[in-house]
Amino acid sequence: MKCSTGKRIYDTEREAIDALIDLRARNNYRKGSGPINVYQCEDCGQWHFTSKGPEHELLGLETVQKKIADDREALYWERKLRF
Ligand SMILES: [Zn+2]
Repeated sequence: MKCSTGKRIYDTEREAIDALIDLRARNNYRKGSGPINVYQCEDCGQWHFTSKGPEHELLGLETVQKKIADDREALYWERKLRF
């Protein structure tokens, strides 16, 4: 299934948010930059990332921020050990 926006599609809000958290762990976005929320598309009815509007409330949670920081550290060591 494809969307006219050309954006990547997620079937559920939960799936989109999980992917968003993962993406933020993999990329060193500054707070409030990069994709910060998910929305249900009027065109395809599925979920996409957005960098506009307010940040998703989950991203502000301490547990989620800790997960992002932990994932980032794990990825850092993964990359460092590989090369
Ligand atoms: Zn769409």
